[in-house]
Amino acid sequence: MGKITILVPAYNEEAVIEKMYERLNEVCADLERHTFEFLFVNDGSQDRTLQLVKQLKGEDDRVQYVDLSRNFGKEAAMIAGLDYTKGDAVIIIDADLQQPPELFGEMIHWWEEGYDDVYAVRKEREGESWLKKWTSRKYYHLLQKVSQQDVYPQVGDYRLLDKKCIDALKQLRERERYTKGLYSWIGFKKKEIAYVAQPRVAGETKWKFSGLMKLAIDGITSYSTVPLKVWSIVGIIISLFGFIVLAIEVIKTLIFGSNVAGYPSLFAGIFFLGGIQLISLGIIGEYLGRVFIETKERPLYFIQEYSESGHVGNEPGQ
Ligand code: UDP
Ligand code: MG
Repeated sequence: MGKITILVPAYNEEAVIEKMYERLNEVCADLERHTFEFLFVNDGSQDRTLQLVKQLKGEDDRVQYVDLSRNFGKEAAMIAGLDYTKGDAVIIIDADLQQPPELFGEMIHWWEEGYDDVYAVRKEREGESWLKKWTSRKYYHLLQKVSQQDVYPQVGDYRLLDKKCIDALKQLRERERYTKGLYSWIGFKKKEIAYVAQPRVAGETKWKFSGLMKLAIDGITSYSTVPLKVWSIVGIIISLFGFIVLAIEVIKTLIFGSNVAGYPSLFAGIFFLGGIQLISLGIIGEYLGRVFIETKERPLYFIQEYSESGHVGNEPGQ
């Protein structure tokens, strides 16, 4: 027996909220041993998502909501939900039903067996372009190489977290969040289960390419300093090469006298070095930007309103 919170971050999901609720309702009806709470975190939707959630709450008091003051992104919406929940475990699931709620039973089973973090691994993706699949596969391969801890490819946020994990994640208040890395960083007993991703039932993906790029860069820069170190090594190699060329030139001049040839190689050298310097400056800037954002110590999100039932006096943390 325990209280399990189903945490659903939702941004402009009016097309799927009701379907989502129906599926949750069906699945949880078969899992009578536990009590459930359906917590929708409205991430500043511009459509009727919040109204629909409130309507559902009128019909079913297991439904709860946290309404953020604007769109803060999925990462912030998830931590807002974790701050709010008082359950013994939480299951994080997308609103679009790409992840089948039918897995709850299996997740809860492993939780009862003593696992703290039961995560679902996507076997294959349906309804996604080959480009997205390919880039995501390559990206995880790279991330695994440059960061010290394990990054599990094909693992999303669909998972059951025990209270221990929730408390740990709540302590990590970094602004530029990359939760996928945080899950493995906190440790605890992990269990992997598999599922086949479904196409979205309705609505559109909320990710733009620029958003994915940002998430990808955040993933690398928050978990590794390899991009910073690589440039000092490249710098040493290039300087060494430059020194050898210089030595050869000096010897040649001493033996054969001076000449003024060699402008093309001079230009090539200047451009090459200039490029390397700009890249390394950009990388330092990337890390410096993160330091700047973290030192401002801003809250991760603000709350417009939240449902009180069952949570009287329990302010979600910041
Ligand atoms: N989401 C959110 N805030 C955002 C973007 C997305 O809360 O700024 C939610 C969205 O409502 C959904 C989940 O995060 O429940 C995953 O989003 P989506 O399905 O668009 O991403 P994809 O499955 O394409 O990676
Ligand atoms: Mg989706």
